[in-house]
Amino acid sequence: MPSTPGQVPSSVVVVGAGLAGAQTSAALRQHGFEGHLTVLGAEGLPPYDRPPLSKELLKRTEPVWLADDLGIDLPALVDDLRLADPATRLEADREQVVVRTASGDDVMADAVVLACGSAPLRPAGWDAAMTLHTAGDAERLRAAAVPGTRIVVVGAGWIGAEVAGVAAGAGAQVTVVEAGPVPLERQLGRHVGGLLAPWYDAAGVTLVTDVAVEKVLPGPAGDTPGGGSVVLADGRVLEADLVLAAVGARPASGWLAGSLPLESNGGLRVNRAGRLTGLHSPTDPAGRLHLDALRRVWAVGDIATREHPVFGPVPGGHWSAALHDPEVTVRALLGLDERAAEPEHVRERLGLAPITSHAPYVFSQQLGHDLALFGVPSPFDEVVLRGTPTASGGWAALYLENALDRHPRRTPEGHRVATVRAVLLVDSPREVGQVRKLMNRGVPLTVDLERALDPTVKLKDAVFRP
Ligand SMILES: Cc1cc2nc3c(=O)[nH]c(=O)nc-3n(C[C@H](O)[C@H](O)[C@H](O)COP(=O)(O)OP(=O)(O)OC[C@H]3O[C@@H](n4cnc5c(N)ncnc54)[C@H](O)[C@@H]3O)c2cc1C
Repeated sequence: MPSTPGQVPSSVVVVGAGLAGAQTSAALRQHGFEGHLTVLGAEGLPPYDRPPLSKELLKRTEPVWLADDLGIDLPALVDDLRLADPATRLEADREQVVVRTASGDDVMADAVVLACGSAPLRPAGWDAAMTLHTAGDAERLRAAAVPGTRIVVVGAGWIGAEVAGVAAGAGAQVTVVEAGPVPLERQLGRHVGGLLAPWYDAAGVTLVTDVAVEKVLPGPAGDTPGGGSVVLADGRVLEADLVLAAVGARPASGWLAGSLPLESNGGLRVNRAGRLTGLHSPTDPAGRLHLDALRRVWAVGDIATREHPVFGPVPGGHWSAALHDPEVTVRALLGLDERAAEPEHVRERLGLAPITSHAPYVFSQQLGHDLALFGVPSPFDEVVLRGTPTASGGWAALYLENALDRHPRRTPEGHRVATVRAVLLVDSPREVGQVRKLMNRGVPLTVDLERALDPTVKLKDAVFRP
């Protein structure tokens, strides 16, 4: 018997057997869901952790299984576990959801949790280039990244920088080609990206910036798979035994087009609890789902653009979101948290307990440095540094909301008060815990800027409390 919206579902299908899918399954059982649980995967492998694929590319020959790392025993939790039967189609209506699988089965359930992550981008015609997203990709890359190999990495983003550093450390000749003027410009802005550029040379990696890759031609027959010629827009040609396209990822939502409203980046817009909102881009023909159908569809992890009380809609791509958000989503799906999507001030007024919201968080180990980014930098932010990048110790960049305020706020001592949208910590492992706490409070972080920029003052002691 299908549940009516608002009732606890008696069957759930989870699409995706990665971190978010595994966490969703574990949370469902942990919170007492006794109904029928189906999990559909695409890789034919039990869930594993992706960040070590680049950071520990050469150190680990086996994936970090989530069964070992988080203790998630999927076969014990799931009634119908299909690790190699991906979903190909979804129909959600007022009565139920139906998920068609690659093997041709229709899985019917009261609710679906979409946890199908993202897929790496590979520009058209770049067939000769590899990408790094799965354990299989890592295995191929590991086999090819031997001393003396010529590797061209396209893209100085998170994954490109991590692989370049690891491969150069192992004796490969690595060149990174970046279309922007500095590494990580899109993620960290031009000023901070420029401070990271010298790391490449110091790690023995050649960095070529400000030039786009026009095409990647396959190498001569018999060459290493993944090898080829990288043709740059200025006419230069870089010969490589291995080309890695590290130019970003996109939600793995192609199979949902026409069934659910998709954002222009391919993501699914969900509310704070992870339930589909039904908002869609103007060009999307879907998005006319009945509210009772929308209520059956939830999304977590990389595929979701999730509403955050401080940062607004946050696109996926954060490991920490895939780790933490399923808990909130499952509690809402099971009706354990009433009105879970409401902002905290409304919940407080209604006498409801607060719901923890985690700030977006990315960590990276690249070219001999540790990075931790909390929050969402915007190109409009004012960037200020705490500490000196040239010194051997750590430093941080604070991204301040550029409010164009004609009457900027001041502390009683006359110091400027600023709202911090993001904090990047570089080689500062001891600060990670306190910054995480500050950014996870679910309210904007305002600081006495003079104190915040003094590295001898703890950031928590620079918080401005009017
Ligand atoms: C090499 C690498 C390094 C990374 N390093 C970091 C890092 O340092 N810090 C950080 O914050 N993030 C990092 N990330 C990103 C992080 O791993 C992701 O944010 C996280 O894995 C998201 O989890 P997920 O479960 O949403 O998606 P995924 O981990 O992508 O899992 C989704 C699963 O769903 C499957 N699937 C897709 N389509 C279907 C379908 N139609 N039917 C069934 N199954 C389907 C996929 O095959 C996949 O197994 C890294 C990613 C990579 C690839």
